[in-house]
Amino acid sequence: MKTFSCTCSATVFFENSQCVACSSELGWCPACNALRAISQDTNGQYYCGESKCGRRLTKCHNYAVEHVCNRCMLTDTMSRADRGFCDYCRFNDTIPDLRKDGNREKWGRIEIAKRRLLYTLDLLRLPYGDANDGVIPPLAFDFKDDIKSPPYNIWWDMSKEEQVYTGHANGKITINIREADHVEREKARISFGEAHRTVIGHFRHEMGHYFWDLLVLNKCEADFMATFGDHNNPDYSTALEHYYKNGPAANWRKTYISAYATMHPWEDFAESFAAYLNIVTVVDTAFNSTLIPSIDPLQSSFEDMVEQYWNLGLLFNEMNRAMGLLDLVPVVHTPKMLEKVKFIHVLLHNAAKPLLHA
Ligand SMILES: [Zn+2]
Ligand SMILES: [Zn+2]
Ligand SMILES: [Zn+2]
Ligand SMILES: [Zn+2]
Repeated sequence: MKTFSCTCSATVFFENSQCVACSSELGWCPACNALRAISQDTNGQYYCGESKCGRRLTKCHNYAVEHVCNRCMLTDTMSRADRGFCDYCRFNDTIPDLRKDGNREKWGRIEIAKRRLLYTLDLLRLPYGDANDGVIPPLAFDFKDDIKSPPYNIWWDMSKEEQVYTGHANGKITINIREADHVEREKARISFGEAHRTVIGHFRHEMGHYFWDLLVLNKCEADFMATFGDHNNPDYSTALEHYYKNGPAANWRKTYISAYATMHPWEDFAESFAAYLNIVTVVDTAFNSTLIPSIDPLQSSFEDMVEQYWNLGLLFNEMNRAMGLLDLVPVVHTPKMLEKVKFIHVLLHNAAKPLLHA
């Protein structure tokens, strides 16, 4: 991730919607592909504040009305299909019930993680999209809360209890918004013995399942099996049952990125995909902060990226320990784990869309 500059020259950050130095409104300009100061004329029309751009902008509905987004659309190229939502919010199918206390704050945290996820996918020029883009499976998000029947259960109340599972099915990524509750998520992290548990980590994992459907299914399943094992035998539900009954094999740390990855080759792939996006985002952020020399996730070798990631891990783990925080890079990658993550690197490189202009 990069940092950006306001027209007043103050540094502004990807999540910001207002400059703290000069109070200018900020918005993502698709023409600049950057966060910019935006200003409004007397008719209410917004413009990009970058003098070389100056394009007419319209705030995303989730920015203008709901205050959980900071992206804009180019007014001149908006289409009906966008329904007033930006390039990232147009994939939302379900948002939390905003009548419930705290849900807007949780939704806001989920949107921040989603924007960072999609930023990384765009950095890697990955293909993703919905039916309007002709992409199968069509990407969509459901952000939902568990529904519990009220204790007074009046006769006309038709609401059913619904337990929401964070997961992926046919392009739909569901996130239980409880994951955006800091206390609940930390409790879950400790009870599952996880090194990290974050909203963006959930997105990266579930997006791994999406890209399995998009890039592996009926395309390179034999290559996948050679690295991750046979996903048809045992089938997913048998593997799931076995995992929750018996737990992971005792020596899983030699070959798997996490205990959960041992459950089934699909979970191993999703965990490896998340690990790869972690590497990309850490080296990209370090490069943009001038901590490391030029590295381009689309040009650099996998080995160079991993070496930089490890060096940064050593540095930031010590830094975080100095502050009593969790390690930035908690996993020591063994050769077998790296083989799996490299499979993802090659798969995504081959899928990257060509640059439209040099
Ligand atoms: Zn400013
Ligand atoms: Zn612009
Ligand atoms: Zn938006
Ligand atoms: Zn999964």
